[in-house]
Amino acid sequence: MVELRRRSEMKLLETAQYFFDEAAERLGLENSLRELLRYPKLQLVVIFPVVMDDGSTRQFEGYRVQHHPVFGPCKGGIRFHPDVTLEEVEALAILMTWKCAIIGLPLSGAKGGVSCDPKALSRGELERLTRRYASEISPLIGPENDIPGPDLYANEREMAWIVDTLSMHRRAQFIPGLVTGKPKILGGSEGRDSATGRGGFFCAAEALVQLGLNMNGARIVVQGFGNVGWNFARFAHDAGARVIGVSDSCGGVYNPGGLDLYALKRHKESTGTVLGFDYGEDISNAELLQLPCEVLVPAALEHQITEGNVARIKARVIVELANGPTTREADPLLYERDVLVVPDILANAGGVTVSYLEWIQDRSFYFWGAQKIDDLLREWMIVGFHKVWKAHQQEAIDMRTAAYLVAVERVAAAARSRGLYA
Ligand code: NAD
Repeated sequence: MVELRRRSEMKLLETAQYFFDEAAERLGLENSLRELLRYPKLQLVVIFPVVMDDGSTRQFEGYRVQHHPVFGPCKGGIRFHPDVTLEEVEALAILMTWKCAIIGLPLSGAKGGVSCDPKALSRGELERLTRRYASEISPLIGPENDIPGPDLYANEREMAWIVDTLSMHRRAQFIPGLVTGKPKILGGSEGRDSATGRGGFFCAAEALVQLGLNMNGARIVVQGFGNVGWNFARFAHDAGARVIGVSDSCGGVYNPGGLDLYALKRHKESTGTVLGFDYGEDISNAELLQLPCEVLVPAALEHQITEGNVARIKARVIVELANGPTTREADPLLYERDVLVVPDILANAGGVTVSYLEWIQDRSFYFWGAQKIDDLLREWMIVGFHKVWKAHQQEAIDMRTAAYLVAVERVAAAARSRGLYA
């Protein structure tokens, strides 16, 4: 089991480096920059104690990785999960750099995490763990250096604990720009909660237009009904799409006429799963991925579309809201089959985009309304989509390779113009 887990972790990092290598080759990138950008610049591993509710002490392992601060501060979420490892955090930090570069944000990538099972910890244990982890990585963190944000099982509540701990460390009253994804009362931004799903929705709508299709009436299938999957589904539903299939970790539900999403959300809130919904048929997650549809949205885990199931995928467009949901082996097969893939480093960049807007607001202590955030997110996601679309068309390459070309070219140009301090 441990061996299997290690192989899949390595795969995410190897996959990120594989696509970087391909872009570097196409761009004719000089070796010095290839070496520089292929690996993270800084990796911190911390082992720290937490006092448990029964009075015992347990040691936890946590990480913070910065890729390359070429443009500005590093930015990236913190995840609490039993499977978190240094390799996974490295891969996710590298992906963050490329996301920021596609949108044109003046930020570089970072990521953090603690290997723990947050579901097995009490509220008090989780708060002590969060605060101690924050204090361990504190030397790296700062509004001009490295700004954490939420990720798996670390949300608003944890961000509030982190900003409080780090502000106290600096003997300051309160420094909101230290962390994004905070509660609004502490300087969080309008629209941050729904930003990743909304950004993905803008990409999906643009992709459909390019194929001569329309969101209105499109059949949509979403794997994962958490923050990102739910928000994507509701924006698509409200724009007239038919969300015909949705799943969570227990399985999926299907209605070819379109699911009543709001009723399904209430059903999930009361039962804990989408299974057993009165107005749909239960299906497995494997069946869900194979439903005929215009847009398939993996919004749960990595490595869901593989060599094993790619031939049975019937979607016209795949919008990758999870990180790394398509394996390296399945990717070219989708391109051969004319399935348009909007890759993760473009499709799920809405989250970091609104985090950037939160950071700007925190730095100026002036806050914008929801409409302004939404307008900026829409504009930047659509511009990002078209940069990648143009490279895809001009170079006759798949969208993922095109996205890496756009991102790597921008970061390499900045690194080159700064030169080397050696
Ligand atoms: P979440 O924890 O809110 O939701 C995850 C959902 O996936 C849950 O509904 C869960 O039941 C479901 N799930 C778990 N295992 C599954 C399985 N085997 N099959 C189907 N569904 C399964 O997390 P989230 O914030 O919605 O994030 C989803 C994905 O998007 C993650 O991969 C995350 O890294 C990525 N992402 C999130 C953000 C963000 O802003 N939240 C930004 C970029 C990328």
